[in-house]
Amino acid sequence: MVRNRISLVNRREFIIGMGVAGAALAAACREDAGSFALEDSGSDVQLPELPYAPGALAPHISENTISFHYGKHHQGYVNKTKAAISGTEFEKASLEEIIIKTAGKSDWAALFNNAAQVFNHSFFWKSMTPGGGGEPGGRIAEEIRRSFGDYGKFAEAFTNAAATQFGSGWAWLVQDGDTLKILQTANADTPIAKGMRPLITIDVWEHAYYLDYQNRRSDYIKAYMDSLLNWDFAEQNLV
Ligand code: MN
Repeated sequence: MVRNRISLVNRREFIIGMGVAGAALAAACREDAGSFALEDSGSDVQLPELPYAPGALAPHISENTISFHYGKHHQGYVNKTKAAISGTEFEKASLEEIIIKTAGKSDWAALFNNAAQVFNHSFFWKSMTPGGGGEPGGRIAEEIRRSFGDYGKFAEAFTNAAATQFGSGWAWLVQDGDTLKILQTANADTPIAKGMRPLITIDVWEHAYYLDYQNRRSDYIKAYMDSLLNWDFAEQNLV
């Protein structure tokens, strides 16, 4: 917790200190660290560095929300996963391996829930970027047209999935074979436990939006769609 707070502060100071060239260098280093989140987060169980400063998504998602959501909730899932794998067959396993091998096994439900939430949150932070959202271009736009007809139909269906997920959970754009699909998952459940490849996700647990939007989940979803969605990340995740 302390270590990660320091690394966040250091990054911000580094970017401010180095100016535009330094920021570009920092961004390039992050790309080199692994562009696909499954491989990126699968090497071990830890809290990844945020891909932007904690206040960078404001006013759509405040630094206050990030401080609790990333610093408390996500960190908590990491801590509980580490505690649950200690002394078990999963002690040296990758996050992805833990999730796939514990999915649907009642004896391992607590470990699955925490490990899947570590993955889901790491994936969620990368699914957003300052100045994101809106209609994409490039290959992801073609794939969306092929699977949904046009961007408007996709946006309506994804928004509806996020809005109607009952209680806590997630909405996802996934690649399933050669088709893109929209998926809702409840609580900690995750597409990688179902053999599907996630492209982007939105967290619709109340902790994701309540400090900024209270009960107005639809306003939070609209901000994600119009101003945050990271289409470059979605495109990188396409096979
Ligand atoms: Mn969350």
